[in-house]
Amino acid sequence: MIPFLDLKAINAQYRDELIEACTRVIDSGWYIAGNELSQFEQAFASYCGTKHAIGVANGLDALILTLRAWKELGKLKDGDEVIVPSNTYIASILAISANDLVPVLVEPDLGTYNLCPAKTEAAITAKTRAILSVHLYGQLADMPAIMNIAQRHNLLVLEDSAQAHGASAIDNNGKSKKAGNWGDASGFSFYPGKNLGALGDAGAVTTNDDELAETLRALRNYGSHEKYKNLYQGTNSRLDEIQAAILSVKLKHLDGETAHRRKIANAYIEGINNPAVVLPLNASSLALESHVWHLFVIRCEQREALQKHLLEHGVQTLIHYPIPPHKQQAYKEWNMDSYPVSEMIHRQVMSLPMGSTITDDQVASVIAVCNSFKAVN
Ligand SMILES: *Cc1c(COP(=O)(O)O)cnc(C)c1O
Repeated sequence: MIPFLDLKAINAQYRDELIEACTRVIDSGWYIAGNELSQFEQAFASYCGTKHAIGVANGLDALILTLRAWKELGKLKDGDEVIVPSNTYIASILAISANDLVPVLVEPDLGTYNLCPAKTEAAITAKTRAILSVHLYGQLADMPAIMNIAQRHNLLVLEDSAQAHGASAIDNNGKSKKAGNWGDASGFSFYPGKNLGALGDAGAVTTNDDELAETLRALRNYGSHEKYKNLYQGTNSRLDEIQAAILSVKLKHLDGETAHRRKIANAYIEGINNPAVVLPLNASSLALESHVWHLFVIRCEQREALQKHLLEHGVQTLIHYPIPPHKQQAYKEWNMDSYPVSEMIHRQVMSLPMGSTITDDQVASVIAVCNSFKAVN
């Protein structure tokens, strides 16, 4: 069986380094908010090209606390509208609702699965204050276009980079910029299955804004900048020393893993030629660096049959995601709304095995099994 994602094998590559990092933390006697965290924050900010990285407990908290910080700083208030893609993982939307802001769902471009700039601009109302742009499946959204819209309408931009560590594109000044360095701030997740994964929960916010960074450092720590003084009704959302030490090890290997993912993606794109399978946009038609292939997502009108065929031939796949947010019980008020592009995506998408330990032979098998699938008319 070719597993969809083999986390054990991925982390086994760095076993000695990870054990050394954990041992260092155990022996230090300091387990929260110490040197390991500040070293990882500096390394991750430097990797993203931002001034700050603020470690938090998980990716959802990174998004929730950034919006919360903007409320504390008077940049957002209850009832303000935030544009968000209708096909995102639900966490992006939960972060908006959790802050008593109003999510405004906008359909994606079918080619990239990311926010459509034209539809984004059309959705702006007098109440719109922010765009939460998601880099879904590892591919940067059209950030030059989105930043341009945001500037013209005076909107904040929060990137959801949970799936896009290291993805980059060229900005309007010809400068290469990574995910996390385009908007006013960005949320990252280091959930174990993400491209940069901890051995538990972890997340971070990146930003170039000093005031926002300082507010976030307080909010994650009970609202306190200074011991026993509380400026905000904050929360406990900290990235602990063990996870920070583990992430510092894994960050060093991230670009190597991304290169391997790109090799697999290119092989799939060149090898899969079954007309029943819609491939992601050919990487060569995009800037190569704009995609870090968190997921390799294909579409098929007969998805259930294809998934069964793959499984019978030893290829494990997953669906990202089977139910769109507006059809979830959690958002009952939207259940009757219609987002045809998102609904089609959720009916047809399927993710093929992808990761830093998949071998050339396994890639060749996945391609062969995809090509041997016969769609029934
Ligand atoms: C994983 C993910 C999150 C949430 O991250 P957690 O660390 O699991 O809280 C948010 N947005 C997207 C797009 C994600 O994929």
